[in-house]
Amino acid sequence: MKTYIVIHHSATPDGRVFRNFDAILKDHLARGWRDIGYHWIVEYANNELIAIPGRNENDVAAGCKGRNVDGIHICVVGNFQEGVPTDEQYRFVAQLCRGIKCRHPILEIGGHRDYDATLCPGENFDMDLLRELVKGDDDLLQDVKVAVKGKEIVGKLIDNKAYVPVRELVEALNYKVVWDENDRSVTIK
Ligand SMILES: [Zn+2]
Repeated sequence: MKTYIVIHHSATPDGRVFRNFDAILKDHLARGWRDIGYHWIVEYANNELIAIPGRNENDVAAGCKGRNVDGIHICVVGNFQEGVPTDEQYRFVAQLCRGIKCRHPILEIGGHRDYDATLCPGENFDMDLLRELVKGDDDLLQDVKVAVKGKEIVGKLIDNKAYVPVRELVEALNYKVVWDENDRSVTIK
């Protein structure tokens, strides 16, 4: 069972265009490991932040002694001993953590340095800020605008899925929403 999320940095600069994932995988295979050590790699590719899956989330990691069995390991590409994570990176990682929390009974989110003698994920990576963003309320979720037949509906972006109020969406499409109190269901007519 996975009860920890452990954050790492790659301690290498993010190329921003090509996938750093491949270099990390190659490095880990060269150490004789069977796969990349982490469950997720967060990096810029084509200048957009993406999360690339490594090992299956239920799989044992090779990331941090003592936390490999019960931890889900995220490696953020960058060197946060030298640079500072961007707001965008914090929010992106927080969103990934929230998704993981929906799938596993996570009790703690820590940096690699909280569990082993290392500076990873770098002294400039503010774990308190990340934890705040993860447990933050909906205000911290990104708004997303959905244009429907010329009407604009504002929803929320959660795990890269857009959520908008059903009634607003359906009425913009000129259908009717009927709420049935008895079986607590919504019918679209
Ligand atoms: Zn680490």
